[in-house]
Amino acid sequence: MRVTLLGTGDTTGTPTVGCDCGTCREARRRGVERTRFSVHVENERTGETLLIDASPDFRQQFLREEASLPDAAVITHVHFDHLDGLGNVFRVLDSLDVYAANETDPATGESVAETVASDYHYLDQITVHPVTPLESIRICGFDVTLLPVDHPPMVCYGLVVSDPETGSKLSLTGDTSYAIPEPSREALAGADLLLADAIVPASVCAGHPAGGRHENSAGTPRTFGTKHMTREGALELADELGATRTRLVHLAHYYPAEDAFEEPLAVDGEVYEL
Ligand SMILES: [Zn+2]
Ligand SMILES: [Zn+2]
Ligand SMILES: [Zn+2]
Repeated sequence: MRVTLLGTGDTTGTPTVGCDCGTCREARRRGVERTRFSVHVENERTGETLLIDASPDFRQQFLREEASLPDAAVITHVHFDHLDGLGNVFRVLDSLDVYAANETDPATGESVAETVASDYHYLDQITVHPVTPLESIRICGFDVTLLPVDHPPMVCYGLVVSDPETGSKLSLTGDTSYAIPEPSREALAGADLLLADAIVPASVCAGHPAGGRHENSAGTPRTFGTKHMTREGALELADELGATRTRLVHLAHYYPAEDAFEEPLAVDGEVYEL
């Protein structure tokens, strides 16, 4: 399994347009980017490619990495930064199987699968396959399981991608607070590579209207606002899940410049062989 981090940023990316903060300046100086979230997973046994989330930066990401085009995609949730790149398949792919959860979201009255199907009803290339969370299905020769996480008010899913032949395992938290349900935690545990949402350091919670929550015993918030883990929360989760390697992703430019490019914060273009 070859994993390429196509997009490691939050919804505005780094550098953010129109921003001249120290972190965006430092990113420009280093020549690195954190575009909107997407992960490219290649099955070297079958020659197939699975795309996790369709970033609005799809075109730029595939050109930059010279990445193989996807045979299938999984959409974790219907926020702009994970879904709105799907229109890029027009005149680029003949067909794309898109997998998404089948549970009705009380916030929208639709499942993720239904929203994807209705948003892209005009694209004949896209076939949407509704998936039951916590049940493994075979995609691109991998066993893939969608796992409910906590990203209020929307439903959102983390996932596990494992290779039934080699046993290698990739876990993604998806966009989530620290309050990931226990069955999902159990499924995410023991990965060769964990990609964990860590949008900001906990120190930034003071500036959020909702503050932070899910404090640890030292009083440090493990959730920023209500929707995302802090760096501290993501690192605690990684400890608990016992991944061999962890990369923090979905990162905002609100990290202070001196922290923003420290380990284990990811930048676009990282490649892992599992
Ligand atoms: Zn900035
Ligand atoms: Zn989101
Ligand atoms: Zn997001």
